[in-house]
Amino acid sequence: MKVVNGFQVIEMLEQFAPKKYAMEGDPIGLLIGTLNKKVSTVLTALDVLENVVDEAIEKKADLIIAHHPIIFRPLKRIVLDEPGGKLIEKLIKHDIAVYAAHTNLDVAKGGVNDMLAEALKLKNTSVLVPTYEEKIKKLAVFVPVDQADQVLKALGEAGAGFIGEYSHCSFSTKGTGRFLPGNEATPFIGEKGKMEEVPEIKIETIYPESVERRVVSAMLNAHPYEEPAYDLYPLSLKGEELGLGRIGEVAKEMTLREFADHVKEALDVDGVRVIGDPADTVRKVAVLGGDGNKYFHHAKRKGADVYVTGDFYYHTGHDAMNIGLNIVDPGHHVEKVMKKGLADVLGQRARELGYDVNFIPSEPGTDPFTFV
Ligand SMILES: [Zn+2]
Repeated sequence: MKVVNGFQVIEMLEQFAPKKYAMEGDPIGLLIGTLNKKVSTVLTALDVLENVVDEAIEKKADLIIAHHPIIFRPLKRIVLDEPGGKLIEKLIKHDIAVYAAHTNLDVAKGGVNDMLAEALKLKNTSVLVPTYEEKIKKLAVFVPVDQADQVLKALGEAGAGFIGEYSHCSFSTKGTGRFLPGNEATPFIGEKGKMEEVPEIKIETIYPESVERRVVSAMLNAHPYEEPAYDLYPLSLKGEELGLGRIGEVAKEMTLREFADHVKEALDVDGVRVIGDPADTVRKVAVLGGDGNKYFHHAKRKGADVYVTGDFYYHTGHDAMNIGLNIVDPGHHVEKVMKKGLADVLGQRARELGYDVNFIPSEPGTDPFTFV
């Protein structure tokens, strides 16, 4: 098992939920402390409240990865007699770093919105509110004939060559490579100062820009040459659409009343607020973690029978009624699914990489509301 630092932990996180997926102005990333230290225990949390900080101290966590940024608005002062200042002091004194993965984790494939859709057992899900389009690029690399297969294999394993439901897509053409090794060269084929001609294969494949580093380094590792020749091209193809919220179907039709009960059970809440006729039929469901007021028109446009989101406002409720959109509001706290969800994803990746780091879902509740 490899001892790791905070940067290595965050690299795993950002491969799953890249920062560029975040909405503009969202204060994500490292908010308190340093990543330049050994990290062996990470707490995954929804909110960083005092009970969570105490838990982190007790469980000797080196880092808290939280969904909601602990510093959301710019700080004007850090006064240790005020609750906010005291919390920051406590974190720094116990050398606990805090990192926020907020809207980038909402948008990520397998992120908060997919976790919610999965908890609600929705099928055939797609993005509700597109916010990000993955750029597609092309790689062309020239490889001696005998090593072409090993390079192709490495490219496929690194995530190149995905077109729709197909993976490992590529195209090869045969040709001749020419080079003259210089005095300092240690050529794989040929000798210094002698012009060489080698039968080579040109491999062309595509990849999403977000995995460029992984694809290029896999290619370079598998390539036998000291100085492989390769090209990277930007393409104007449309890549995969990512975004906030998901829309999908329930396994079997039910009434709005039955669906409300399903939400309570699936998302583990004591109550939900409902707009709409309890006898209405529910088949198509839109879900958006957190405060989804802004996006109710997306749910209607995409044909949702009901929109599941938190923090729904009174007047937006009237607007939803006016367009005939049913609402189930289970509260904002249902995003707590990310605590175990993210710990599972990162724990799995750490095991694959042989990293000596534990991910623990935070236990205390942080919902300010209770039902009486
Ligand atoms: Zn939220």
